[in-house]
Amino acid sequence: MKKLLIANWKMNPESIAEAKNLFMDVKKVASRLNGVETVIAPPYIFLAELRRLYTGKRVMFAGQDVFWEEKGAFTGEISPSMLKNIGVSYVIVGHSERRALGESDEIVNQKVLASARAGLRAVVCIGESTRDHTDGAHLIFLAGQVESALAGLGGKMLSRIAIAYEPIWAIGKSAEDAMRPFELHETVLLIRKTLARKYGKAHAMRVPVLYGGSVEKENTLSLLTDGAVNGFLVGHASLSGPKFNDILRVAHSA
Ligand code: PEP
Repeated sequence: MKKLLIANWKMNPESIAEAKNLFMDVKKVASRLNGVETVIAPPYIFLAELRRLYTGKRVMFAGQDVFWEEKGAFTGEISPSMLKNIGVSYVIVGHSERRALGESDEIVNQKVLASARAGLRAVVCIGESTRDHTDGAHLIFLAGQVESALAGLGGKMLSRIAIAYEPIWAIGKSAEDAMRPFELHETVLLIRKTLARKYGKAHAMRVPVLYGGSVEKENTLSLLTDGAVNGFLVGHASLSGPKFNDILRVAHSA
């Protein structure tokens, strides 16, 4: 499986000129790395224009969110097929920042199903807000998040899913505050077990499991190898071309 590196730009940058510069910086490196699939998730308003700047296969695009209906009277929303029709292949669903704005497990599930039906790959974000190291309650919580996000999704659609494990307490900090690789490994095993219970082991092993939360160049290698993830969802470090490119290079050589 190729490593999957997703740049979540969130609500940045402020202008299309800056977005283009950042994209061109990343494209220069990403388009040369055959072991990494790089996915850029800019704000909606920049997506179509950035998409037009690239015709190759190594850099893909993602929406940061999506609505679950196909079209109609839903002011302000963007549908999965609209994303698909401008050449977007991925969509982030259930990011903790959207959940904090009121997105429920049921809504996440509807978005996942609608995205998969439209032929997008949904990057389903899960993550606990705090972690008590003794009682393991976070593991039950995470398994529940996976199960509810994928409710009603048949095995044939599993190729349209990636899971991004993003512990909320580790987001937006620095490499020193990120999760330790051995703890990540335990969580990755739990996610795979949860998938295997529902879809069988062979299918479960084909789902990319990503980590997100203060990934920087310094912790990329250890999280990838000891954490046993298939890639990363990168927030703040993806807003600097040189920093994100360093992460891509380390991931490529791992
Ligand atoms: C995120 O919010 O998805 C994220 C991974 O952010 P950061 O890398 O800034 O922790």
